[in-house]
Amino acid sequence: MARVIPPARPRKLAKVPFVELADGRLQGVVSSGSDIERVYVSSVAAGSYAFACSTNNNRPCGGARGSFCNHIKALINEAVLQYGVERVVRYLRVDIADEERSAQGIAAEMSGTNPPQGDAKAAAWVFSRFLRHLAYLELAPTTAPLPEMQWFPPTRAVA
Ligand SMILES: [Zn+2]
Repeated sequence: MARVIPPARPRKLAKVPFVELADGRLQGVVSSGSDIERVYVSSVAAGSYAFACSTNNNRPCGGARGSFCNHIKALINEAVLQYGVERVVRYLRVDIADEERSAQGIAAEMSGTNPPQGDAKAAAWVFSRFLRHLAYLELAPTTAPLPEMQWFPPTRAVA
């Protein structure tokens, strides 16, 4: 039987509906604060911290020029809730003192290295993974665990 890892803490799915540590990146989908139709696909690469952010229509995020935008910060925040701070630090290979290990600390440490602009082409791949996850919502209800559904909290979502 597949093992489903519960999130370290419940997440706010409305703001960041999809977050994962995969393909050597922290990547996910972040809702636009102003436009309900729009989402941002954001990512930060492990090691280099190369970052990218663009809309689902492939327009570059205006906030992600030269430094992390709010979507990337939200993504880091949600990753810490989902995976726990230690796992995020390990995966992204962030060199950071124990007492500074928090979402804000990780973001500050990574952006402090002046990371390069990442490859925006990854966004299409991340977004298609997100849509694939959404497709599970249309499956017949079952009590068998689906490992890819682990980004849903085990209990009700926090509003
Ligand atoms: Zn952005």
